[in-house]
Amino acid sequence: MKPVVFDPDLCAGCATIDCLMKCQYVDFKDIDDARTEKLNINEGRDSRVLHECLTCYACQEYCPDHNNPFYLLVERQEEKGLLPAPRPILEEQLRMMAPRGRIERKMVSAPVVDMCAFPMLTGCVRGSLFENASTIVGTDIFCNIMWLHFAKNSVIRERVPKAIDNIMAFYLKDANTNELVCFHDECYGTYTSVAKAYGISVPFKPIHLFDYINRRLDVLADRIKPLNQKIAYQRPCSNRLSPETDQTLDEIFKKIGVERVPRKYDRQNALCCGGVPRAQQRDELADELVEKNLTDMLSTGAAYCVFNCPFCMATLGMEVAERGLMPILVSDLVQLALGE
Ligand code: SF4
Ligand code: SF4
Repeated sequence: MKPVVFDPDLCAGCATIDCLMKCQYVDFKDIDDARTEKLNINEGRDSRVLHECLTCYACQEYCPDHNNPFYLLVERQEEKGLLPAPRPILEEQLRMMAPRGRIERKMVSAPVVDMCAFPMLTGCVRGSLFENASTIVGTDIFCNIMWLHFAKNSVIRERVPKAIDNIMAFYLKDANTNELVCFHDECYGTYTSVAKAYGISVPFKPIHLFDYINRRLDVLADRIKPLNQKIAYQRPCSNRLSPETDQTLDEIFKKIGVERVPRKYDRQNALCCGGVPRAQQRDELADELVEKNLTDMLSTGAAYCVFNCPFCMATLGMEVAERGLMPILVSDLVQLALGE
């Protein structure tokens, strides 16, 4: 088993301990306190961070040295059997999201759009934005990044290489492209950040949905009717693994004429939608996060709440709609601007 790529010397010389000092869910008395806990994690000792962590992925983004603090934290949780969710929930999820072995070969051509394990989202791939697109979907190509929320790096190591093999053998091997457009932000995070840190090779080129849309909007520029709307954006946890794509999203919003309103809980300060603690049966915390997000969004005067993650939308969509904001996925918002 390859260990998570991580350099303890970088932490030893770290002046800021940003990974923990910026954490929104675990409190530290001061930087020395954070340094002590970080050292405990690095050296394999118990740390209260391993128990209190919300598994929000954010420390992956906060570390200026890209030293994979969150992946290491999950490694330590699993080594010590510290499960963030009750075991029956974990066992149920492991069964539900397991590969079924029911995958069939299918001829696909560019652009090939990976819908992960969400067949209900394939209807989003439509119109001029996704002209001539092929979609692939199912638990046999599930990206499996969710196990970071369940202290199960071992499942990532076991299932991700199989999903990659399936994508190649059943779809991309005979296709006219080596590119895979990741509709789901989490897939992109898996095939870029996780794969690199866990030593998993990826034989295709993952393309983030935002990069795909941004390129397409240049081709379709003469069809864009600016929406002239204010939107509040709910940034998902997995986007911490590809922060550069958040700037691409700004370019998309500019092209379709929407203003991403400043929110307290956006960008580096994004707050979990509440879905993860709900799944971990930490309901009180989930309720608190939902309320904080809603209050923050409502204070901005935005007309839409824009989601990139279907799980965030499932968690908050109904709530934002009841309070007067229209919930919508990024791709659907772009299609509105294209008059479709
Ligand atoms: S993981 Fe990064 S931010 Fe955290 S202590 Fe190490 S180098 Fe510093
Ligand atoms: S994953 Fe989130 S909650 Fe956990 S230590 Fe990192 S920043 Fe804090």
